[in-house]
Amino acid sequence: MIIAERKPVDEIMEMLQDFKKVLVLGCHGCVSVCSAGGEREVEILASLIRLGSKKEGKEIEVIEGTITRQCDKEYIDSIDQWEGKYDAVLSMACGVGVNFIANLRPTDMVFPAVNTSFFGGSAEQGVWSEQCAGCGNCILHYTGGLCPVARCAKSLMNGPCGGSMDGRCEIHADVPCVWQLIHDRLERVDRKEQLTKVAPIRSWTTAGHGGPRKVVRDDLTV
Ligand code: SF4
Ligand code: SF4
Repeated sequence: MIIAERKPVDEIMEMLQDFKKVLVLGCHGCVSVCSAGGEREVEILASLIRLGSKKEGKEIEVIEGTITRQCDKEYIDSIDQWEGKYDAVLSMACGVGVNFIANLRPTDMVFPAVNTSFFGGSAEQGVWSEQCAGCGNCILHYTGGLCPVARCAKSLMNGPCGGSMDGRCEIHADVPCVWQLIHDRLERVDRKEQLTKVAPIRSWTTAGHGGPRKVVRDDLTV
């Protein structure tokens, strides 16, 4: 899922300084699961904005709402239910949701309430870790299911680099060297010979370096 984290309240208050009626809009998708922008977080942020605006001597009217997803036109249209009641939308969805509102609602002012961090999963209670960088050309079948694009600090295709020490990445002692993990895993499943093949030079065009990406499914388009 997409992992996000709420922005500091001061930064949010600064964005909202020119507005009097704000729709704080949550999303029931990934940001709900990672506790950054679901119904509960909308309630908390709305209270913080009310308190913050009082403290600054002005009153911002805050409307709370959460929609199914902010990355889908069908659900973005449901914002119509608050039509005329707000002069800015503060989206608690990931950056995709903010972009969708900007794309589809040309006259709505929209601001991001969260920082979109990465594609990852819950490692333990309250901890999320990056697992995939959405590179568009997955190579996990060569690497035992562990991603060197997202999890190696240098995104090496033929690791480890010379900085790996005792199974740790040179960037920090807390970070495991994913190439060590790949080696150990392939050894465990008796596929270590895969590491003797040198990965060819990679084209990064599918990873966003060739401009904005699009997936078109002919079987689903009308
Ligand atoms: S190789 Fe690319 S698509 Fe596959 S997990 Fe890594 S970043 Fe994601
Ligand atoms: S130590 Fe391992 S994870 Fe860190 S940059 Fe080198 S190969 Fe990548």
